[in-house]
Amino acid sequence: MMASEGADTVILDTMGLEISSVTDSDGGKLPFEMGTAKEGMGAPLTITMGDKRQIVVAYKSGPDAAALQWLVPEQTAGGKHPYLLSQGQPTLNRTWIPTQDSPGIRQTWEAKITAPEPLTVVMSGLSGGEPASAAEGSRTFSFLMDKPVAPYLIAIAAGDIVFKELGPRSGVWTEPVMLDKAAAELADTEKMIDAAEELYGEYRWGRYDMIVLPPSFPYGGMENPVMTFLTPTFIAGDRSLTGLVAHELAHSWSGNLVTNANWSDSWLNEGTTSYFENRIIEKLYGTKRASQERALNFASMEDTIAEKGSDSAITALHLTGEEAGPDGGTSGVIYDKGASFLHTVESIVGREKFDIWLESWFDRHAFQPATSAMFLADMRKNLVKGDKELEAKLMLDEWVYKPGLPSNVLRPDPDAFAEVDKAATAYGASRTLDKAAWSEWTSAERLRLLSKLPTELPDEELAKLDGDLGLAASENNEILFAWLELTLQNRYEPAVPLTEKFLATVGRRKFVAPLFEALMEQGDWGKTIAKRIYAKTRDSYHAVTRAGVDRIVKAD
Ligand SMILES: [Zn+2]
Repeated sequence: MMASEGADTVILDTMGLEISSVTDSDGGKLPFEMGTAKEGMGAPLTITMGDKRQIVVAYKSGPDAAALQWLVPEQTAGGKHPYLLSQGQPTLNRTWIPTQDSPGIRQTWEAKITAPEPLTVVMSGLSGGEPASAAEGSRTFSFLMDKPVAPYLIAIAAGDIVFKELGPRSGVWTEPVMLDKAAAELADTEKMIDAAEELYGEYRWGRYDMIVLPPSFPYGGMENPVMTFLTPTFIAGDRSLTGLVAHELAHSWSGNLVTNANWSDSWLNEGTTSYFENRIIEKLYGTKRASQERALNFASMEDTIAEKGSDSAITALHLTGEEAGPDGGTSGVIYDKGASFLHTVESIVGREKFDIWLESWFDRHAFQPATSAMFLADMRKNLVKGDKELEAKLMLDEWVYKPGLPSNVLRPDPDAFAEVDKAATAYGASRTLDKAAWSEWTSAERLRLLSKLPTELPDEELAKLDGDLGLAASENNEILFAWLELTLQNRYEPAVPLTEKFLATVGRRKFVAPLFEALMEQGDWGKTIAKRIYAKTRDSYHAVTRAGVDRIVKAD
């Protein structure tokens, strides 16, 4: 930890920690005081350190530490051993680590973690090699992150996990029964790293490993340095949902290397990464898949903007007011509007110039926090260079500080889904669908069709759709989710058991929250089902998912 010269106290964020002592490196006691706890922020721990520059805090995390999820064996694929995983972003790590828990702070760290055999521990740092034997059948694992990272990027997982190499600098950890499936789905990882480097410069973190977690992980992925955390729900058997991996990998530049200094600027992490993700997909799988994925995201962003209102502060990139807190921006608009902003700038200045600038932005701000103001100032200095005509065309301030979509927005290729949209229109008119065409379509095309179906469909039409397209049996979780949402909106009884099974296994907030929402919107029929399911599944969800669903189910 760095201390400014002359400082004699240090204040750390804590939440629910039980502090037993604070000492200096020689064991001398240091006075400390726990301040008043604030809702959602925890309590400041003020330590009087005098002229000492190394302090030791002995503490225990609380049983309900929000960052940590303790899984019982039944929640794992193997079913035999317990599992631990953490999720630090945005401000949860203070529930298990006393630290200055802001994305504007950076720190290096080392850790030694002891776990009972046969559990293996991984962290978002480089492994110190083979674990050492410890007392009573335990092993001690050591880790080092020698590059300064924001505290939310410290992560841990422990379970009955094994490793498979994917390439010279990449590999995957997961439970033994998941290993072959996970490795096959991630087979393009090394090519993705190469593509990302060709786009925006050297990968600076050494290894790029991933862990495929049990399905209760609350997010799709988390870009923990050198150890991306992934939901198993991206495994579709055909690598059609690996945009998620490209996304987490891209965070190695936008997010982990250059980090939003405040959560009000989280579009700098997420929007830039969503743009970068799309460029990786284009490089690896071609323009068709890239433009389809972009069009799909663009359409869902337009829906959200329409729903929230194009004058609502939540649809600006730089978030203000209530939205500026750590949990702001969860509407998803910052991801796709941020990506659209950069696609627009790219189309105006030309790809070559834009890429040179973006790579140099990462370079100039490597291992540093950044703000919207810094991003725009850098773009003006190094890309616009005083060209008044170009400045007017770009509408930079409007993009970043105003809600809604500026008039210069680059719309996705209108032909991206030409065939599918025609099929959806035909279905709307005559209730017929070409099964053969569906079987040829990409994952994005299938999702597009499902999003364009009439929202109100009678039971017999839903049964026919399922029979023709095999939706309930889909191994693609995005398709399965879209199907379940559509059926619940139509109070389609035959889909309820599958919904219940899905919600009892999957804890990914992106899927779980909308399904409960769809049920709660269906009057007594849906509310009864939602409450019955949630009473059984709530305890199995991570705090992040639980908080989201509590708002939906308990609000009633
Ligand atoms: Zn992200």
